[in-house]
Amino acid sequence: MFVAIGLVPQNEPFENLISLDERGYVASDERCLTNASGIFVAGDCRTKRIRQVSTAIADGAVAALAACDYLDA
Ligand SMILES: Cc1cc2nc3c(=O)[nH]c(=O)nc-3n(C[C@H](O)[C@H](O)[C@H](O)COP(=O)(O)OP(=O)(O)OC[C@H]3O[C@@H](n4cnc5c(N)ncnc54)[C@H](O)[C@@H]3O)c2cc1C
Repeated sequence: MFVAIGLVPQNEPFENLISLDERGYVASDERCLTNASGIFVAGDCRTKRIRQVSTAIADGAVAALAACDYLDA
């Protein structure tokens, strides 16, 4: 038997810095932006439907390129 107890994000240290959703995940979409300019988010800690290694890695690439765009602007 495998007991699935669920997941609880540990984003409290950032709650005064960036918006969290109602479940405590960093509010974001597929662009990996947060509501704070210059702060990006990737992986399981953000709002998303599928939390797997493959989606976390994709987020990393998206967030890094968003950070490059931010620095270039
Ligand atoms: C039991 C289980 C089985 C899974 N099986 C699969 C599977 O078979 N296939 C699959 O694709 N995915 C699987 N997943 C999901 C996968 O592990 C995650 O989606 C993926 O690891 C998310 O990557 P991440 O980098 O966002 O977060 P994590 O891999 O959780 O990395 C976050 C890192 O941040 C560190 N950290 C946390 N707080 C701080 C802090 N304050 N300062 C510094 N560092 C900090 C943590 O120690 C950790 O190393 C599984 C998850 C679980 C729990």
